Amino acid sequence: MIYKPYGTTGKKCSVLGFGGMRFKDIDDQDICVQMMVEAAKGGVNYFDTAPGYFGVKSETVFGAGFKELRGLGLPFYSATKTFASTETAIRKEIEAQLKRLGLEAIDFYHVWCIIDLKTWEERKKNGVITTFRKLKEEGLIKHICVSSHLIGDQIKELLNEEVFEGVLFGYSAYNFSIREKAFETISQRNLGCVVMNPLGGGIIPQNPEIFDFIKYRKDQSVVEAALHFLFSHERITTALVGFGNLTEVREALHAVKTYTGVDEAHIRRIRDSFREAFLDLCTGCQYCDHCPEKIPVPKLMDAYNHYKLQGKKEAALDRLKWHWNIPPSEAGRCTECGQCEEACTQHLPIIKRLKEIAALAPSK
Ligand code: SF4
Ligand code: SF4
Repeated sequence: MIYKPYGTTGKKCSVLGFGGMRFKDIDDQDICVQMMVEAAKGGVNYFDTAPGYFGVKSETVFGAGFKELRGLGLPFYSATKTFASTETAIRKEIEAQLKRLGLEAIDFYHVWCIIDLKTWEERKKNGVITTFRKLKEEGLIKHICVSSHLIGDQIKELLNEEVFEGVLFGYSAYNFSIREKAFETISQRNLGCVVMNPLGGGIIPQNPEIFDFIKYRKDQSVVEAALHFLFSHERITTALVGFGNLTEVREALHAVKTYTGVDEAHIRRIRDSFREAFLDLCTGCQYCDHCPEKIPVPKLMDAYNHYKLQGKKEAALDRLKWHWNIPPSEAGRCTECGQCEEACTQHLPIIKRLKEIAALAPSK
């Protein structure tokens, strides 16, 4: 296993992390624990869950897994999150989490899922920062982190909050351009950085022909190449894979074993090929993100990418619901002023695509 420093915390985390959001059978606790043990035996020491993954079942499974890891003398760091923002609500949540996880302290505790700066300001007003600081002083959490779906300059702004020691966001060989700017602040502030959805929410393994260009050896899979792309990023501490079963754990561990570095030229090729291979896909550059109606065009076009690549409308609806938390009806507010299409670097028919997305909204 390869370990990298998590920002300035003094902790070193495995480049491959265990995400607890995609267990195929969360009710089979023995298998889930076995997966955690297998990962830890392979050197994985970063385990991430949340109080909304399968309700609280993922945290409960992690509690059983951590007990087993402790018994076997396998080292681990715990990471979980909270949506709560008032002191009372956060304290109630963390008390239950520590119990479920069987821990006295959580290593990496995240302000969960900042989707826009407005809600972040609201959470701050409710006292989230003060409360997280208190929890750290009291030894209930070790490090204050944030998970976010913000993009571009907005994520930079969020990460400039002095309180954060690390960040968790989606990033992969499929959508890297959407959050490139975050790395400027991550570097300046020397933050830990964990990335989720390293396989583009399944888009990469489901479309191996399309993503063939990310491979740098003929005998490798796109999954391995996609993970290597992330391992090679100097500012990414850990790539978090949401494991479904034991086979997936073994495949990812194998990808760590076969990693010997990716040369700069190949990384450049991936970035350039991305442009060529996806000319009719949104690249997440955000040049269009100035809609007078405040329609989040890049996010809606990202969801449309999923629709286009996977060929089914559920893919776009899932992306909108679970990743962006935006109803498809947002697309229906477009007045067809044409401003976004003029700005689009890919010359995409955004208005037409917005209409298609709006049509996906369930009828009332
Ligand atoms: S065309 Fe629609 S989405 Fe694009 S900027 Fe105008 S109102 Fe916004
Ligand atoms: S300008 Fe075009 S490619 Fe860039 S984010 Fe907007 S829709 Fe996507």
